[in-house]
Amino acid sequence: MSPAEQEGVSRRRLFKTGAVVGAAAAVGAMTGAEPAFAEGPPAGGDLVLHGGEIHTMNAAHDVVSVVAIRDGRIAYAGDVLGRAIAVFRGRPRLIDLGGRTAIPGIIDNHNHIVLMGNRPGHHTPLENAYSIVDVQQTYAQRAAGVPPGEFISTIGGFHFNQFTEVRLPTLAELDAAVPNHPAYLTVGFTGPSVTNSLGKAFFEAAELPVTIGSDGSIASGMQTGRATLALRRTLTFEQRKRSALDAMAYAVSVGVTTHLDQGAFQATDTPSDGAAHEDNYAMHLPFLSVYAAGAGIIRLRINFLHMETDPTLPGLTQRLQNAFPFFGNEWVRTGGIGEFIAAGLGPTWLEAARRVARAGWRAEVHSLSQTDYRTEIEGYEAVNAEFPIGDLRWVVAHAPFITEEYVNRLKALGGGLSLFGGSRYLTGSGTNAGPPYRMIVDNGIHAGMSCDGMQVAPLNPFISAYYAVTGRNARGDLINAGQQISRHELLDLYTRSNGWFLGEPDEDQLGTLELGRLGDVVVLDRDYFTVPEDEIRHVRSVLTVVGGNIVHDSGSLG
Ligand SMILES: [Zn+2]
Repeated sequence: MSPAEQEGVSRRRLFKTGAVVGAAAAVGAMTGAEPAFAEGPPAGGDLVLHGGEIHTMNAAHDVVSVVAIRDGRIAYAGDVLGRAIAVFRGRPRLIDLGGRTAIPGIIDNHNHIVLMGNRPGHHTPLENAYSIVDVQQTYAQRAAGVPPGEFISTIGGFHFNQFTEVRLPTLAELDAAVPNHPAYLTVGFTGPSVTNSLGKAFFEAAELPVTIGSDGSIASGMQTGRATLALRRTLTFEQRKRSALDAMAYAVSVGVTTHLDQGAFQATDTPSDGAAHEDNYAMHLPFLSVYAAGAGIIRLRINFLHMETDPTLPGLTQRLQNAFPFFGNEWVRTGGIGEFIAAGLGPTWLEAARRVARAGWRAEVHSLSQTDYRTEIEGYEAVNAEFPIGDLRWVVAHAPFITEEYVNRLKALGGGLSLFGGSRYLTGSGTNAGPPYRMIVDNGIHAGMSCDGMQVAPLNPFISAYYAVTGRNARGDLINAGQQISRHELLDLYTRSNGWFLGEPDEDQLGTLELGRLGDVVVLDRDYFTVPEDEIRHVRSVLTVVGGNIVHDSGSLG
């Protein structure tokens, strides 16, 4: 959508629902049309959701039919509509859920939404496409709102394994879908990629020309690096802000209202940069600008990624000396160091861990190999002997191959496990599956769920949910047999249990629909708990509420 059209759509939605949507007005502010809400996020609306199957996800697993949100917080959760209305002085807005299932706003404890919100072109998630025709339809719909000549792009978050054809679309297929827009699709960190005729002309004329096949194909590695770089060099700050808004809008459409971002690899402005590279020192600014305009519609939590090779760790040292962990407000707050604290897992890494512990910060590292989690947890143990980390909530993320022995060792340190699923769904196999959800949930260590989007995995939490519940990848192969968990267990990992990963004060304010907590609610288009397993992937939000504000409305609640 062009800014003007986006504004128009948002205004219509605003008037149709009559709700307080700070984002809609603030999009106007950002385009210079209507400087409303410039002072910050809007106060929460007064709202009563009733007539639903509302899963509070509290410890008792209570399901209620009525929830009231006053001044952005849960003021009532129960079954008596009159009591919900009575908590307001005036008349709240009432929304009849018509028996639909509702859940707390989903928390993603490990993703890269800041990267997604800095994508060049009009980034268009393809994670919900199941065929080339789906890709063409998704692109055609997107192009309808984008001025001719501007790039429609998808940088990461999907894989051709999810398409029935098990391949990328061709130049001709993309031309047919978006004849008036250049297109660029790239898989994972570094391709392969594909473009259409208009895109081919752009990339071949770039300062570092890209070699492109007659079918539009671009090889993974350096050629994809050149293409992504050429497109990135066109990015303006205003486009990054638009991209940030797009990322937020997509997130709330799939129910993810709180995101713990895990940073980027530091960009080098060369073709070596992949999809996960950005400028760690500037990439948050478009998001902060969106929040300053009152247009932020997700809760963003920020970890700082450090990947230094210099054993004196100059960057990390400055961060720990001059920044604040857990500084911010309900909308944006800083977190700890992660998902990397230094390059490698050698002495420099151990020294980095030591300094993070000494400073009293949270740390998160990721584990993907058969053995790295051992080095990491043994390192945590060594550091803990000198500077106790028991209260700091140190995390090991992904951990597909972790054994129960090491789960217990991390548990003894007060640590937790951030589990993933989306990348295993896209590209996992029998020897490359995990994580052992069943063992970990039964163990009782602090565990939570993430998607780890947006490069090698989708953002949509219901795709990770499908994988965790069924053990099946995108090809339908059962790859994680014996480690499946129930739908309720999975949702608990994405809501209540994920509060722990946010830390204070968020853990007492997010993740469940209990009195006094922030009013983040997602109304689903179908019953996640009872739909056939294959349909779990297709669950969407029809109405997403953040702090009492309606931030996504499909219109199907009337
Ligand atoms: Zn990650």
